[in-house]
Amino acid sequence: MKMTRTIQHTREQIKSWKKDGYSIGFVPTMGYLHEGHQSLMEKSIQENDKTVVSIFVNPMQFDNPDDLKNYPINPLADMELCDKAGVDLIFSPGVDEVYEKGFCTFVDMSVLTEELCGKSRHNHFRGVCTVVNKLFNIVAPDFAYFGQKDAQQLLVIKKMVKDLNMDLEIVGCPTVRESDGLAKSSRNTHLNPEERKAATILSKAIFEGKNLIESGERNIEKVVAAMKSILQTEPLAKIDYVEIVDGNTVQKIETLQGSVLGQAAIFIGKVRLIDNFIYEV
Ligand code: AMP
Repeated sequence: MKMTRTIQHTREQIKSWKKDGYSIGFVPTMGYLHEGHQSLMEKSIQENDKTVVSIFVNPMQFDNPDDLKNYPINPLADMELCDKAGVDLIFSPGVDEVYEKGFCTFVDMSVLTEELCGKSRHNHFRGVCTVVNKLFNIVAPDFAYFGQKDAQQLLVIKKMVKDLNMDLEIVGCPTVRESDGLAKSSRNTHLNPEERKAATILSKAIFEGKNLIESGERNIEKVVAAMKSILQTEPLAKIDYVEIVDGNTVQKIETLQGSVLGQAAIFIGKVRLIDNFIYEV
């Protein structure tokens, strides 16, 4: 496995692979890798000749300086996980390499980024779109892999690629969970044992929402209320939002039809957790 820190070295490596006719799969991450990230790498390795993983904690997508400061890192463990998985290249640049002094170009999106997490995390998706766009320009992948765990991000990236005619395909991968249902996340590491136990309430609410729709409930308010009342049984959980929206446009819907996205965000102490379900009605 190779590792690069500069854009130039990364481009040189990719160009030489492309010259040899290899297809490139790409998994962008912020590191502190777990089985969720690994599932994306495995899919990429299955479907491509070479797999590149980027590890970059992108300051532009954090609206809270403490959140950025406390974001967990473990470069050695990340390298080991990538190596074991069979990744070909890790691109792990520093902030100055990605954002040169005077950087002032952004990818901004309307509509899809205004609902759900866009409401509570100001400019988050602007930071995500900008960095992902830059990474796509550096790595020039044929396929890029993103988790359904961050469903809104997946939809936003797919739309950006379509709207800006980018020459690659985005592949969505299912959410990997702990045995008790909690979606795997680098942020789970900030939960103390009591909070970790409390955090399972989120997937319980998500599963209940999906079950209700599966078993025929078509009243959105009733489904949202049922999900909220489950979350409210956990004293350590503070609800940020629970919503059911259109599964393609992330817009509010009046009736449950077509693809729907049910998503909830909660705080357990200072840790913000999200989870979701997608259902074809
Ligand atoms: P992050 O490092 O949190 O920015 O995540 C990098 C990629 O891994 C994103 O596409 C995430 O959606 C994906 N990811 C994170 N957690 C999971 C999970 N539990 N299951 C599947 N994909 C995940």
